[in-house]
Amino acid sequence: MPILHRELLLDIFGYTEFRGPQEAIIDHVSAGGDALVLMPTGGGKSLCYQIPALARQQAGHGVTIVISPLIALMHDQVGALLEAGVDAAYLNSSLSSEASYALEKRLLSGSITMLYAAPERVTNPRFLAQLDSLYERGLLSLFAIDEAHCVSQWGHDFRPEYRALSVLHERFASVPRVALTATADELTREDMIERLQLQEAAKFVSSFDRPNIRYRLVEKKDPTQQLLRFIRNEHTGDAGIVYCQSRKKVEDIAQTLSNEGIPALPYHAGLDAGVRQANQDRFLREDGLVMVATIAFGMGIDKPDVRFVAHLDMPKNIEAYYQETGRAGRDGAPANAWMSYGLQDVVNQRRMIDESPAGEDFKSIMRGKLDALLTLAESIDCRRVQLLRYFGEDCRQFSDEPPLGKLVPSGGGVGREATSVGAKFMCGNCDNCLNPPDLWDGTDAARKLLSTIYRVQQHSGISFGAGHIMDILRGKKTEKVTQFGHEAISTFGIGATLSETQLRSVLRQLIANGALNINAAAFNTLQLNDASREVLKGNIQVMLRESEAASATRGMGSKAKRSATSATKTANAVLDAAGERRFASLKAWRAEVAREHNLPAYVIFHDATLIAIAQRAPLQLSDLDGISGIGAKKLTAYGDEVLRAVR
Ligand code: ADP
Ligand code: ZN
Repeated sequence: MPILHRELLLDIFGYTEFRGPQEAIIDHVSAGGDALVLMPTGGGKSLCYQIPALARQQAGHGVTIVISPLIALMHDQVGALLEAGVDAAYLNSSLSSEASYALEKRLLSGSITMLYAAPERVTNPRFLAQLDSLYERGLLSLFAIDEAHCVSQWGHDFRPEYRALSVLHERFASVPRVALTATADELTREDMIERLQLQEAAKFVSSFDRPNIRYRLVEKKDPTQQLLRFIRNEHTGDAGIVYCQSRKKVEDIAQTLSNEGIPALPYHAGLDAGVRQANQDRFLREDGLVMVATIAFGMGIDKPDVRFVAHLDMPKNIEAYYQETGRAGRDGAPANAWMSYGLQDVVNQRRMIDESPAGEDFKSIMRGKLDALLTLAESIDCRRVQLLRYFGEDCRQFSDEPPLGKLVPSGGGVGREATSVGAKFMCGNCDNCLNPPDLWDGTDAARKLLSTIYRVQQHSGISFGAGHIMDILRGKKTEKVTQFGHEAISTFGIGATLSETQLRSVLRQLIANGALNINAAAFNTLQLNDASREVLKGNIQVMLRESEAASATRGMGSKAKRSATSATKTANAVLDAAGERRFASLKAWRAEVAREHNLPAYVIFHDATLIAIAQRAPLQLSDLDGISGIGAKKLTAYGDEVLRAVR
């Protein structure tokens, strides 16, 4: 079997080596075992069921059913398989009745290797009856459940239809199942295992590290300008995704970027379905577009050359953040994950949780998850180490092994002890590692702030929001201050030497550490709790990161710029002038083929493959041997055209 798997890898997909745990997973699933696969985005999950599907079909086991949450994306996935010469198809409502009928016939004959379908389709009675028929004849080979975290309400894109998938195990007990996801914290993972009844399945958990992604979280100050600077300085001409909280903001930012000469498209659930689909298609098919979107966009987007993901607003938790940023750099080339966040984001997210109709247990878990993200944002330690720790990975165990091979103890030079656990490790590819933030002792400021909140409450008998409290501290005689007579409060003006930025940072830190509550049910007023009293008494030291403005002047910009290596810039590095011309000509040829086949360009060949061809300057077909990404079918179909394009 294993030899066959390697042959399939080379012959169909054009790759010479398996990556990470792929081979072990493939061997296990191909032999009929159940598996749960947790692998980061870009890790190569697809092959983990595609190669078993091919091997099992060859061995006479029949059809693999691939369950995938988004109809819109099945087209490209199946397109890529067909390009590679695999008999694959998808079932969805876009098919005409004749086409569905013809497909059903092929399905029932057991000849299709992979059939993609959405969960609601798979669990409808008519389809289940067809599966019964295959099953009785031993022609139902494997179930692959993609984006399996959708089954859990703890995951960030819960899809109730996934729950019904437990029927597969009950009805087709002897058919192996492989469930795959790129995201799952401990809670989601356990829930997923239980819901899909995968208790007996082999678990393959890869490191979730994405070494090529550089994480950066900056304080929000004129976010539109910050975003423009980020794109202009580091990502001119690159494809990227900008996430915003609201539909209106999506529209505004897309418009602003376009006005500023950065080609951008909007995507949110309020747009007409046709427009949404058209924008998504353009993003996938054209080079260098920026998609400005709500979180409605992205699941299953497997465009490999997304060079950056920017968050203009804070997501709701680390899982969502990691999943969304994970859409950058699937091709392994350098990519940026950039986020701007502020106090208002926290307030908004809190309010959404508080106002949701969910039960109190659920809300409390969600609040905890939000706090974890805020803590990450405020932290001065390596972002990657903290992200991985959140997903249950102890970075020490990777300290001299890839993929975290570059994590080294920092010698304790960075940051404070309070938030760090044991020895420090630094990835060298996040803002805190590249440019350790300066610290300042915010204990005094925190006490001033908390005592102001206390006194104002005593004075007026009601609580106030952050803005007003800061005005009092900074000694501003606003209308509201005068109206409530708050200039009489003894702390009025005692924070005059602190900037608003510093005070906001103190506030966020206190909230992140649970030393201050925001009451969303009462106009987001600030309220003290037991932990606040500890800070007030001076029992807790509050060390804060210096605001971004200060560190920006120390040159993060120039370091960050170096990371902005787009695929084209990578090409520059390896290709001479003639190579460049061949690459350009190959890209033009690829664009043509992609248009003809109505598929994204990367489905035909990845940039990396074209660069390798351009570098080799092949004269005859045999010169293409061994270039990664050229399988047998593609060699036959495109070999001659590639040679012509090179000439
Ligand atoms: P995931 O679904 O885990 O995000 P994919 O299955 O889409 O990842 O794979 C990411 C990219 O890596 C794809 O372009 C795929 O062709 C490529 N890839 C996967 N496995 C290998 C391999 N063994 N060798 C080279 N490239 C691979
Ligand atoms: Zn780091």
